[in-house]
Formats: sequence, structure tokens, C-alpha cells
Amino acid sequence: MTPESLIASAAINIGLAFIILCLFSVFRKQHSNANIYYPRRLSLHHPISFDRSFTLRRFLPSVDWIRDAVRVSEDEILCTCGLDALVVMRFFKLGIKFFVMCSAVGLMILLPLNCSNSYGSSSTSRSMDSLTISNIPEGSNKLWIHFASLCFISFFGIYMLHKEYKIVLGKRVQQLRNMRHQPSQRTVLVRQVSLCDEHKTFSCNVDHFFSRYHPNAYHSFQILYGGNLIEELPVAFVTFRSRWEAALVSQTQQHPNPLMWITQMAPEPRDVLWKNLSIPYKHLVLYRTGVYTAEVLFTIFFAIPVTAVQGIAQFEKLKTWFPPAMAVQLM
Ligand SMILES: [Zn+2]
Repeated sequence: MTPESLIASAAINIGLAFIILCLFSVFRKQHSNANIYYPRRLSLHHPISFDRSFTLRRFLPSVDWIRDAVRVSEDEILCTCGLDALVVMRFFKLGIKFFVMCSAVGLMILLPLNCSNSYGSSSTSRSMDSLTISNIPEGSNKLWIHFASLCFISFFGIYMLHKEYKIVLGKRVQQLRNMRHQPSQRTVLVRQVSLCDEHKTFSCNVDHFFSRYHPNAYHSFQILYGGNLIEELPVAFVTFRSRWEAALVSQTQQHPNPLMWITQMAPEPRDVLWKNLSIPYKHLVLYRTGVYTAEVLFTIFFAIPVTAVQGIAQFEKLKTWFPPAMAVQLM
């Protein structure tokens, strides 16, 4: 790899990131995109002010959102978006810290070490190889520094992951402790409820079933209704006296037919998509297959453009495809 290729590759990647950030900052100012960028605030009916006049400011990229995003504290993220969002944010921060440490070791220790050797012919002097480990001769004691750096970075990564895991575990335990009095912690979602032969309703059968089979643990239930609020759905939320009993019921088979009385721990109320609860259980398998297929296709079609960009980032190809790139050679 030549220095020109490296600069061209870096320029393409930085340029693309810059363009995407600019597009994001412009799109988020348009009120027609509000349901994409502010779905939570819209669902909570919080007012969002948009500049609707055709001013230049509305169509110019801005950076004030970066300052606002950095100022949000962990407690605010936990309160408004939940623990999962906080874990993702912390994972990004961990990645940045690890990248900074790797860069520091590479630039301050390994790069000067590799450059200090005049190993190799003059033809490689313009090549990036003079910056890599291939510039150090075989058997040189300097390779021990490379080995030590690798060990240091590996142990640093393991230490950071260990520390992160402990912090996330602590937050999870704290969250469970805070939420222990909420009914959702003792509630099980039951699907495929069967019809009561005697009373011809689903709701009374939920009561009959759990009063009979879990008399000491069962507390109360809430059947779900269809769009017209009259038609009962064979889906119910059943609340138990303790978290332990709810967990036991959610993890055991309730009926000889495994496709009847299917239980799982109820999601948190804010995570429930009420419309989706009316989807019949047998269709859920098809939905899962659809989501899995979409995931695979998305991964493949995301990888293709990324590979293509990396491919044209080779300077020799780029010169023929995009002649202005030759300006890099003048630097
Ligand atoms: Zn009945």
C-alpha cells in the first residue's frame, strides 16, 4: 500500500461520514420528517418547534445537536429510553476508549519503532511498508516490543470489558430492585387462551384456569379486546403474587397441547405494541422468518456498497475512475 492509497481511502471514508452528518442535520430540521426523528416525543405529545419558513438556515447543516447529544447524562438516558439504550451507548463509548488506547500505542511506540529501522531496499521507501512490522528484520529484539504491546492491548481490552460488564450488571440489578413493586414484574403474557365451554367467553376461562392450577400464586388477569372493544382476543395479561411465581409460570408448559396457553414474561408496558397482540400465534413464526430474512438481506446489501467503496479506494483504480484524485500525489 502506498501513502496515496491510504490518504485516498481515509479521505473517502471521512468525506462520506461528513456528508451523512450534514444530511442528518438538515433532514432533522424538516417538519415533514418529524415522525422519523422524533417518534417518542410525538407519541408523548411533547411540542416540537420547527422553522417552517423558507430560510437559508433551515437548509444549512448545523452542529448544535452534537453539543446537546453529548450533554445528556446516563441517568437521563436510563429514565427516557431504558437500560438497553444505555448499554448500547456505553458500548459505543467503550469502543472509542479502546480505539484511543490502540492509536496511542500504535502512534507513540510502534510507529517510531518501525520507522527507526532502515531495513529493506530504497524502492520501499515510498511504500507504507516502512511503517509496518515488515520493516523490522527477523530475530531483532525489537519484536519483543511488538509482542509486549500486543499483550498490553489485549489485557487492556479484557480489563475494559470486565469493568463494563460489572457496571452494566450493577445497573441491571439496581433496575430490577427499583421495579420490583411494579405489576409488570409479576405479570405473564398468555396467548392461545381457550374458550370456556360453559360461559362461551375467553376471560372467564383465564380465571378458571389459573385459579385451578395456580391457586396460591394467581392474583388477577386482564383480557385483551379487539379494535371494537367488544370482541375478546385469546390473549391475556395474568398477574401473580410474586415475581418468582410469575417466572415459574412463564417458563413452564401449561397445557398438554403445547400450542395452547402459551406463556412468556410480559414486556414492560412501554415496550408493548398493542396492535401486534392480536396477531395469531401461528402467524408469529412467519413474522419471525420474515424479520430474519430481512436481517440477512440487509447485512448482505450493506456489505456490498462498503466493499465497493473500499475497492475503489485503491489509488491506482481511483486515478482512472476519478482523475481529480491525482491531486493527492501533489501533496
Ligand atoms: Zn367460564
